[in-house]
Amino acid sequence: MNDVLPAVKTFLASQPLKMFIGGRWTEARSGKTFATLDPGEGSLLANVFAGDAVEVDAAVTAAQEAFQKSGWATMPVNDRAVILHRLADLIDKHAEIISQIESLDVGKPRSQAAAFDVPHSAQSFRYYADLAVHTRRREPIAVSGFDARTVRLPYGVCGFIFPWNFPFLLVGWGVAPALAAGNTVVIKPAEDTPLSTLYFAKLAEEAGVPAGVVNVVTGLGETAGGALSRHPGLKRMSFTGSPEVGRLIAEACGRNLVPAKLELGGKGAAVIFDDVNITAVADALAAAVTLNAGQVCCTATRWLVHEKVRDEFIQRATATMSGLKIGYGAMADTNIGPVVSEKQRARVLGYLDKGVKAGAKLLLAGGRAEVKGHEHGFYLKPALLTGDPGNICARDEIFGPVAYVMTFKDEDKVIELVNSSPYGLANSVWSNDLDRANRVAEKLVAGNSWINAHNLFAHGIPYAGCNLSGCGGGVLGPETLADYLRNQSVVRVLA
Ligand code: NAD
Repeated sequence: MNDVLPAVKTFLASQPLKMFIGGRWTEARSGKTFATLDPGEGSLLANVFAGDAVEVDAAVTAAQEAFQKSGWATMPVNDRAVILHRLADLIDKHAEIISQIESLDVGKPRSQAAAFDVPHSAQSFRYYADLAVHTRRREPIAVSGFDARTVRLPYGVCGFIFPWNFPFLLVGWGVAPALAAGNTVVIKPAEDTPLSTLYFAKLAEEAGVPAGVVNVVTGLGETAGGALSRHPGLKRMSFTGSPEVGRLIAEACGRNLVPAKLELGGKGAAVIFDDVNITAVADALAAAVTLNAGQVCCTATRWLVHEKVRDEFIQRATATMSGLKIGYGAMADTNIGPVVSEKQRARVLGYLDKGVKAGAKLLLAGGRAEVKGHEHGFYLKPALLTGDPGNICARDEIFGPVAYVMTFKDEDKVIELVNSSPYGLANSVWSNDLDRANRVAEKLVAGNSWINAHNLFAHGIPYAGCNLSGCGGGVLGPETLADYLRNQSVVRVLA
């Protein structure tokens, strides 16, 4: 933490860091706090107030009031778009600061946060602000005998619970469409990585988003997250995280009949046919599985390689993976930062252990990595396994830099193998035969099928999961704006 920017030092200076509720920086009434660590050092980064049901209730009440009285929900949509564009500009202006906060809190290479997480988040506000301007709010309905129309209106208070792998990016992806539609929001960031969301609230305030429209309650999952998911004042809920917690959220929301969008985990496959440039594909997949230290829900962790190119693929993939630089997030040459916590590192190591005990063979051993000068950080070496498709490491989401190689020779069989997973988030097909690539891509059951690439995101292309990977419409697409607008029919009988 030697080169911390003065603005980041100032942001972290007055600890415990406060929550943002109703336009005020607020302490937890209980006085309780929690620690967020720098995973690259394994040391304290900041103490943050731990909100609970009291603060969640205050935030939902503030958001309800702001929905009714602040003018946010009723202002002309282009005026709201001006404010959201200002917010996007402020994100860009503070990109260096946000990237550093994100890198310190998540552990990810600062260069990755600067190149992807932060600008993509800013772009989400621009995309949805513009889309909202061009979305018709009144749609005439031509049914004989009636003067009828559909009116599209915001719902009210929307709750958001986010995970720790892409905190700032996911705020953009998740919250931007809700705000652009005129809703107000209460955000509960992950307890491992609350900082960039608090910084986001600061920028929203500076951009002129009215008090109470954006609220951030920091706290633990069961207390703050649980209270938010159970709150009857919500009109919509969006949860990004594990399927286990997703179920709890859906149950809690179901009791209040609050619709929940769930963006959950994955066990993505890459299907590699024998007509590709093996070096390029192995390098691309090695990069994909080590991006964010493998803590990427949609990344390819099952590599299904045509048997003819298996050896060449494995040779190149293991060489590339072992050549990647493991290091502290601030170092310019770091490819793989630490995982987010000691708990997450233990989880990944536990999976490797169980997988090997169940018969998987290690092609690249993985395990703990030591980074000089950062001996207490939560670093891991990338691992590659092979073996039976039923092995625990081939089935479960591990959420670390770990891939599992299997071979195939038959197109139908490989489709069956991919689709045997209970998840359905993202898969990729690699082939120079585009007819085949398109055919296979459409048969893989998931929200996303990518061709000759993995981890593709663009505003305008929906990104969602099905089966165990989620439900409720996803993010990034134009449909997501519609998710935050309720339709109301206004009808008069014609005389
Ligand atoms: P997690 O489910 O443990 O936690 C996510 C959030 O839920 C955190 O804010 C946590 O505090 C909160 N939470 C925990 N218990 C809760 C409870 N009982 N009630 C309410 N809230 C509670 O997930 P994680 O470990 O932070 O993130 C990893 C998971 O997220 C992986 O499964 C990953 O695939 C998934 N993910 C999915 C997407 C997507 O777009 N599909 C994106 C990123 C991450």
